[in-house]
Amino acid sequence: MNKLLDLGRVLRLKVLGSHLGVTFNQAHHMASEKEAALAATPDDGKPTIFDKILQKEIPSTVVYEDEKVLAFRDIAPQAPTHIIIIPKVRDGLTGLSQAEERHEDILGHLLYTAKVIAKQEGLSDGFRIVINDGPSGCQSVYHLHIHLLGGRQMNWPPG
Ligand code: AMP
Repeated sequence: MNKLLDLGRVLRLKVLGSHLGVTFNQAHHMASEKEAALAATPDDGKPTIFDKILQKEIPSTVVYEDEKVLAFRDIAPQAPTHIIIIPKVRDGLTGLSQAEERHEDILGHLLYTAKVIAKQEGLSDGFRIVINDGPSGCQSVYHLHIHLLGGRQMNWPPG
């Protein structure tokens, strides 16, 4: 029975992958990202995996750092270049929907940093910026972050 369920899931992911123009592995990750997002607790204010990365309690591949932001490679890349950019101090920014006027500077800095890193990574043909927000937005880590994706042709509309 479990084998039949597994087979059904594999077939669904293959179909999803071909619809979206991504590989089976990417479709698998997208499906599990959605599961992770739906299981995540929105804005509970607790430390997240990104706090552990900031504290160097768990390793990450840092590509950029200044006094306000940290950028590191995504552990499950969805493109040849997939970088996560976060504010070092969360200051209530569990997600973009929690932004207040006082966050304007850090939000602008995050976006400008994305452009700087895109250049550093050689993404001269273009790139994509993504901010997932809340369960419907497929957010799984409640510390505001920008995804910088590049190195392949992106599709539209997004999934
Ligand atoms: P989101 O689904 O928008 O909340 O994005 C969270 C991202 O964090 C996902 O793309 C994950 O792959 C990524 N991620 C989770 N844990 C780590 C980690 N330890 N190192 C790097 N990226 C991570």
